[in-house]
Amino acid sequence: MLRDELKKNLSTIPADQPEIRDHVETILAETTSPTLPDKARHYAAAVVRWCAAGCPVRSVELQAACRLTCQGCPSDQFDPRKEVCKVCGCSVKKSRFAIRDKVAMATEVCHKGHWPK
Ligand code: SF4
Repeated sequence: MLRDELKKNLSTIPADQPEIRDHVETILAETTSPTLPDKARHYAAAVVRWCAAGCPVRSVELQAACRLTCQGCPSDQFDPRKEVCKVCGCSVKKSRFAIRDKVAMATEVCHKGHWPK
């Protein structure tokens, strides 16, 4: 598969060609992300779940631990440029509003099971 080949050969891009590396990383990020309709569906479902549960918010400490896990995602599903999880397309970026932050919404989970509980 093209994506696997690109990923495998990423390390062979010469250090003096950072623009090529950036371009390949962008392609990799975009080819693995859910489509816009998928993201909208995931987000709408997350908001419904969260509201139905009474809008529970994770503790600040637990949010920090989850965010740290995302930044070093063991499944390589974190997009550092956009600060989103590539599995669901949801933002894991800290926000003033919990409704805009998958990590803050206590009803949301890491679909790969990596977040601490
Ligand atoms: S939510 Fe899970 S799979 Fe997604 S980036 Fe965070 S740790 Fe990785």
